[in-house]
Amino acid sequence: MTYKVLIVEDEDIIRLGLKDNFELENYIVETAMDGEEAIIKADQMRPDLVILDLMLPKKSGFEVCRYLRKKHPGIFIIMLTAKTEETSKVAGLEIGADDYVTKPFSLLELIARVKAFLRRIPPKDQRDEQNEDDVVNFHNIYLDFKKFEASKNGENIELSTREFQLLQYFWQRRNEVITREDLLQEIWGYTLDNMPTTRTIDNHIVRLRQKLEDDPSNPQIILSMRGIGYKLNA
Ligand code: CA
Repeated sequence: MTYKVLIVEDEDIIRLGLKDNFELENYIVETAMDGEEAIIKADQMRPDLVILDLMLPKKSGFEVCRYLRKKHPGIFIIMLTAKTEETSKVAGLEIGADDYVTKPFSLLELIARVKAFLRRIPPKDQRDEQNEDDVVNFHNIYLDFKKFEASKNGENIELSTREFQLLQYFWQRRNEVITREDLLQEIWGYTLDNMPTTRTIDNHIVRLRQKLEDDPSNPQIILSMRGIGYKLNA
């Protein structure tokens, strides 16, 4: 199982450092130094994962992210951002990034998060086997976890790869209570000694509800279990 990663970063030290480390982990690595090159390389190599700097020459990380999300469904996109403002983080996720990392970041942590993600997803070239839980229907929601397609009442909904992954995890444990700590470990790849605040989860749930629920302020699909976590009501 070999995964392909595209590293998009105009700062040489960071780009080369990431390249070396991903190669050590046996990933196939390509790099790009600006937004236009990123798009060309992504179309050529069809990566499983893109590490995408936000501030780039020619096309910004935002533009590249928007393009990738449309053109390559199921790709995992981690934004690198130098800005620490909450707004830029939210914006990163709003446009469809799956995760973000604020510079300076720990390589080990980044790689741990990537591995946690890829553990649940076979490499692109090996995704042929269909299984009955790949396509699911509940309430008025339709999800295809293999093709990364989603709709509600027949209308397409745009979900990030992370959101698909979260929903798949919920679906596999439907009607069970899932703790925030579970999600941080299983989906985000954090370990008990480097847990961030559970707000990461709550922000994702808020966004998912906005996309899935008829009335996000009175959720019927993803229920809150006060003080514990969440439950998919299916
Ligand atoms: Ca940059």
